Amino acid sequence: MICRLCGKDKKLVESHIIPKKFYTPLFVEKQSPRIISNKPGFYPKKSPSGIYDKIVCVECERIFSPWDDYAQKVLLTQNSKVEYLKYNDKKIAYIKTFDYARLKLFFISLLWRATVSTHYFFKRINVGPFEPQIKQMILDTNPGDPEEFAIAITKYDDPLGTITPDPYSYKWEGINYYHFYLAGFIAYIKADKRPVPSFMKELILCPEKPLIILIRDFRKSKDFKVIKKIVKKTIPKK
Ligand SMILES: [Zn+2]
Repeated sequence: MICRLCGKDKKLVESHIIPKKFYTPLFVEKQSPRIISNKPGFYPKKSPSGIYDKIVCVECERIFSPWDDYAQKVLLTQNSKVEYLKYNDKKIAYIKTFDYARLKLFFISLLWRATVSTHYFFKRINVGPFEPQIKQMILDTNPGDPEEFAIAITKYDDPLGTITPDPYSYKWEGINYYHFYLAGFIAYIKADKRPVPSFMKELILCPEKPLIILIRDFRKSKDFKVIKKIVKKTIPKK
């Protein structure tokens, strides 16, 4: 079996494409989450350990571990260091200090893993000609500059918002994006040579800024445009 990352003929390991803790909110009263699909002839089946696929060898799988651990820690751990951005006394975004390289590499490696996976859950993810570039960034531990595979994150502050639909592609003002759902978070990953649409610019992961996670109301999801100016005014550059 050929490892999709190092290209060597090796035994491949079962690896989670989306790290396991991002499925944890789905485990209700010790029942396993079920995978539901509109694929013809597919019946809901239990998915006790999330979704996994054999795409890489054990050595390559280890490359992802520190990034997976970091993303789970920074996104899922509740702590007092979190600050909020408020507008009219309403919380509109979380602000946290973060390690740009590790979080960025987590998201681009997630996009790469979903692209090379043949699991039907990731059938709508295919970065096509960008795949060799992302693979090289993973092998070089290179997170790229903020515009390269730019990432923005939002979160639903509602338990219902932790549903995990399959990721899909979407065009924001004509720019190609992939949307991933992770335990209430939505990550928007750009796969396009053109720059980020202007309304999203203030929200992308950037080494000179804290992590900004826009809070969205699950029942009446808001537009990015609402906070563009506020973020621009209130988030100081480091
Ligand atoms: Zn390998």
